[in-house]
Amino acid sequence: MNLLPAFQCHRPATLEEAVRLKAASASARFVGGGTDLLVNLRRGLGDPAALIDLTAVADLATIRRDGDELWLGAAVTLAGLARHPEVLAAYPALAEAALAVAGPTHREAATLGGNLCQDTRCIFYNQSEWWRQANGYCRKYEGDKCHVVLKNDRCYATYHGDIAPVLMVLCADCVVFGPDGVRRLNIAGLYREIGSDHLTLAPGEVLAAVVLPPAPKGRRAGYAKVRIRDAIDFPLAGVAAALTRDGDVIGELKVAITGSNSAPLAIATDVLSGRAWNDETAPILAQSLRKQASVLRTTVVGASYRRRVMQAVARRLVDTLWQQD
Ligand SMILES: Cc1cc2nc3c(=O)[nH]c(=O)nc-3n(C[C@H](O)[C@H](O)[C@H](O)COP(=O)(O)OP(=O)(O)OC[C@H]3O[C@@H](n4cnc5c(N)ncnc54)[C@H](O)[C@@H]3O)c2cc1C
Repeated sequence: MNLLPAFQCHRPATLEEAVRLKAASASARFVGGGTDLLVNLRRGLGDPAALIDLTAVADLATIRRDGDELWLGAAVTLAGLARHPEVLAAYPALAEAALAVAGPTHREAATLGGNLCQDTRCIFYNQSEWWRQANGYCRKYEGDKCHVVLKNDRCYATYHGDIAPVLMVLCADCVVFGPDGVRRLNIAGLYREIGSDHLTLAPGEVLAAVVLPPAPKGRRAGYAKVRIRDAIDFPLAGVAAALTRDGDVIGELKVAITGSNSAPLAIATDVLSGRAWNDETAPILAQSLRKQASVLRTTVVGASYRRRVMQAVARRLVDTLWQQD
C-alpha cells in the first residue's frame, strides 16, 4: 500500500454545498465511510484534488417514513441499517445483506451510498501501482487494454456490492441530487454494464437516498452469498430473491445477482410464475442464471466455480423462501 495522495478534505453541511464543491473540482470525490475509496487511493487508484465527506450533511444519515415509503439516507451506516427496527420488521433481507458486507468495523463506518456506488473490481485493477505498471496497466485505469476480455471493446471489471441486488428485488428507488435538481430512478437505473464507468450518475450528482415501497403482504425475501473468507469478504457470487406464493404455485419470483457482471443484474424469471417450485422447475432458474450472468476471470477464484456456485446458492435460497411460513 502507498501513502494516501495529498488532497483537501471538505465536510459540507448541506447537499447543495456538497454539489457546489464537486462542481468546483473535476477530480474531487464524494466519500462516505471511505472503506472502499481510501483502500483504492492507497493502491494508487485515483488522485483526487479533494474529498467531499458526506457524513455531516443534514438528514443524510437518517431513516424516515414518508407515507407508506421508507426513506434511507445515503449516509446511513450499514450497521445502523441492519439494526433499524422498521428495516428489520418490513425488509429483513436488507438487514441480512447489510450484515453480509465486509466485517463489523467496516459496517460501523461504511454507508449505504458508498456501498451502492462502490467501485467495480478486477484482478488486473485491485493491485499495487508497480504490479499494474508491470502489466501495462488496464482499460479501467491508466491503460487502454482489457486483460480479461481480449477483444477489448470495454472494461469488464465486476460489481461486487451486496446491497444493490436486494434493493432490486424489493423494487426500491434511489434519489439523486445534482446541479440540475433532483431525480428519482429505480436501483437498476443507477448502473450500466461498463466496468470502468458503471454508474449512471452525471458528473456532480450525488446519491441522496434510497426509497423502499411498502412490502407486499406475503412476500418472502432473502440474500445469500459465497465468499472466500466468511468473516469478511466481497461476494464471489451473491443472490437476492423475493418470492410471493400463490397457494401451491409461484405468484411472483424476483431474482437479482452480484459478483458476475459490471453491474448488479436482475434475472428474468417470468416463466416460473404460476408453477410450483420443485426439482423440475428449479433447473429453469439455473438455466436463466447461466444464460444471463456473464462471469469472467475477474477474481482469483475461477469463473466456472463462480458460475456454478451462483446457481447452487440461488436454488438453496429459493428452496428456503418457498418453505418459509
Ligand atoms: C476488506 C474489505 C472487505 C469488503 N467486503 C465487502 C463486502 O463483502 N461487500 C460489499 O458490498 N463491500 C465490501 N467492501 C467494500 C466497502 O467496505 C463497502 O462496499 C462499503 O459499504 C462502502 O461504503 P463506504 O461508505 O465506506 O464507501 P466509500 O469508500 O466512502 O465510497 C465508495 C465509492 O462511492 C462513492 N460515494 C460514496 N457515497 C456516495 C454518494 N452518496 N453518492 C455518490 N457517490 C458516493 C465514493 O466517491 C466512492 O467512489 C469491502 C471492503 C474491504 C476493505
